[in-house]
Amino acid sequence: MTVPAITMNNGLTIPQLGFGVFQITPQETTEATRTALQVGYRHIDTAEMYQNEQGVGDAVRASDLDRADVFITSKLSNAAHEPNQARAAFESTLQKLGVGYVDLFLIHWPLPTLYGGDYVSTWKTLIAFYREGRARSIGVSNFQIPHLERLAAETEVVPAVNQIEAHPYFANNAVRAYGRAHGIVTEAWSPIAQGKVLDDPVLRRIAEAVGKTTAQVTLRWHIQRGDVVFPKSTREARMRENFALFDFTLDDAQMAAINGLDRGEGGRTGAHPDTFAYMPA
Ligand code: NDP
Repeated sequence: MTVPAITMNNGLTIPQLGFGVFQITPQETTEATRTALQVGYRHIDTAEMYQNEQGVGDAVRASDLDRADVFITSKLSNAAHEPNQARAAFESTLQKLGVGYVDLFLIHWPLPTLYGGDYVSTWKTLIAFYREGRARSIGVSNFQIPHLERLAAETEVVPAVNQIEAHPYFANNAVRAYGRAHGIVTEAWSPIAQGKVLDDPVLRRIAEAVGKTTAQVTLRWHIQRGDVVFPKSTREARMRENFALFDFTLDDAQMAAINGLDRGEGGRTGAHPDTFAYMPA
C-alpha cells in the first residue's frame, strides 16, 4: 500500500497518512509504535504534552528502518512558549526521541489568552530551529485565521502545516480554505472524532456501498479532501484497517453526502483554540 506524499511550502514532503499517539500511555507507546511501523506507517505524530516521545523514539530506533524513512512530528508544550523555555523544551524533545532532528515541529496551541497573547515570539523561536536544520519543517496547531494572519504580518516564514480538529461533524472549512490559499497544509486531528462519527447512518450507507468500514470511508474522505491524517489505535487490526485507504475511492455524490454532515461549531469535540488555556503541571 503506497501512501501519497504531500509537498509542503518548503519543498519537503509529508506522508499523507500517519499514526497518532495521543492518549497512548508511555508504557504502551513503544509497542504501539513498533506495531504501526510493522503495519507500514512511516509517519508518527507525537507531542511533548503526550509524555510519550521516548516510546516513539525507542520504537523507531529498535526498528531496522533508517531515520530518514520515518517522518516524526512533535509539538511544543503549552508550558514552554517563552523563547528560552521553548529552546530547552525542544532540546528535551530531541533527546527523548533520540534523534538529531524532527521532521516537523509545531506550536501545539496558540494560547492567545496566555503569555500576553504573544505566540509570535514563540514562532520566531521555531524559525530558529528550522534555520538550524534541527526541525526540517515547522508549523502550528489549532491556529485560527487571525492567528495565522498575525504570523504572516509579523514574520517571514509561513507555517508548513496547521494541525486542526476536522472530521465529518466539524469540517473546519474556513480555516482549511485559508491554509489552501496561503500554502499551508491542513492536518486533521481526531479524524474519526475519536469514534463519534462511526455509527452515522450516512457513513454506514456509503461504507456498505463501497465494501469498507465507516472508519475507512471517513479517513478516505479526508484523503480526498487533500488533508493529512494520523488516526490513533492501540489495536493492530484497527491500525491495518486505518491504513487500507488506497484501493478504493469515493465518488462525488459520496463526498458531497459526507460534506453534508458538517454541524459547524456544534460539531466541535475538542477545546476552542481562542479560549483553550490548559497548562501542564
Ligand atoms: P481519532 O479520531 O484518531 O480516534 C481514536 C479513537 O478511535 C480511539 O479511541 C481508537 O480506539 C478508536 N479507533 C481508531 N480506529 C478505529 C477503527 N478503525 N474503528 C473503531 N474505532 C477506532 O482520535 P485522536 O484524538 O487520537 O486523533 C488522532 C491523532 O491526532 C492523535 O493521536 C494526535 O496525534 C492528533 N491530535 C492532535 C491534537 C492537537 O491538539 N494537535 C488533538 C487531538 C489529537 P482504540 O485505540 O481502542 O482502537
